[in-house]
Amino acid sequence: MAPVATPVIIVHGGAATVDDSRRELCMAGCERSANAGFEILARGGSALDACEAAVRVLEDDPEFNAGYGSVLTRLGHVEVDAAIMDGDLRAGAVGAVPWLRHPVSVARRLLETGEHVLLVADGALDFAREQGFFGEPPHALISARSRDRFERGQKKDKSADTVGACALDAQGRVASATSTGGIAGKRRGRVGDSPIVGAGLYADRALGAAAATGHGESILRVVMSKFAVDRLREDSAQAAAEMAIDEMVRRTGGEGGIILVDKQARTGHYCSTPRMPWAVQSSAGVQSGVENS
Ligand code: ASP
Repeated sequence: MAPVATPVIIVHGGAATVDDSRRELCMAGCERSANAGFEILARGGSALDACEAAVRVLEDDPEFNAGYGSVLTRLGHVEVDAAIMDGDLRAGAVGAVPWLRHPVSVARRLLETGEHVLLVADGALDFAREQGFFGEPPHALISARSRDRFERGQKKDKSADTVGACALDAQGRVASATSTGGIAGKRRGRVGDSPIVGAGLYADRALGAAAATGHGESILRVVMSKFAVDRLREDSAQAAAEMAIDEMVRRTGGEGGIILVDKQARTGHYCSTPRMPWAVQSSAGVQSGVENS
């Protein structure tokens, strides 16, 4: 099929503080992720496959709060949330799932089955097992960094490091995906914005796609990703990102960040936190950073 769009992918590594000592590591991790997604787009693959592949790279990277390296609950366990959505409003999501290294791929499988949009906790794990995913033993997803953060008292640690991706493919299709261990010290069973369609992510074939990060309880209440994608009717991806974060901060007092891609292959990224690692890759090459501009 002849290409109708210029493929592009944008990924983020979480709205957070990001010490200078981790700056390069986080940018390199985001670049590897964008690269994995873009390789698929460059071969004519789908935005959905690109987002899943990009998020899987970040889930494997202990610098980020997703999959391996997730923050711990107040009981010292890992419980992950993830989601994936395409512009045809197909979506799959899992929440509060114990020990899955690649929850985004379980969410993807749920999207493909089309039976449900969101499965949580043991039910999500049952589905994952049925589909041939094997939960890792509980301790296997705890990185040295997350153990250390837990022992130092996670509530004082404002790092978030959730991950997300948005892509546009050569056929003009958009998608987005998220994955997170949630917020440090959360209660067992807490689900944030990341697996919630409209809040943590959104995609609409006519407009574009968004993926959010930050204080889930605030993002949920302004349905931030849907808010941002709707702005694409009138505004650029960058303006939509800034408006969505301003709205969330103004209405809830929360903090966070967002990435977007629109149908014209323009990307946007913005955060109210000191930093949010990001990378964008297109045929023009890769760009990355940790600040708004
Ligand atoms: N939004 C995630 C949550 O509240 C956390 C994050 O983005 O870092 O679960």
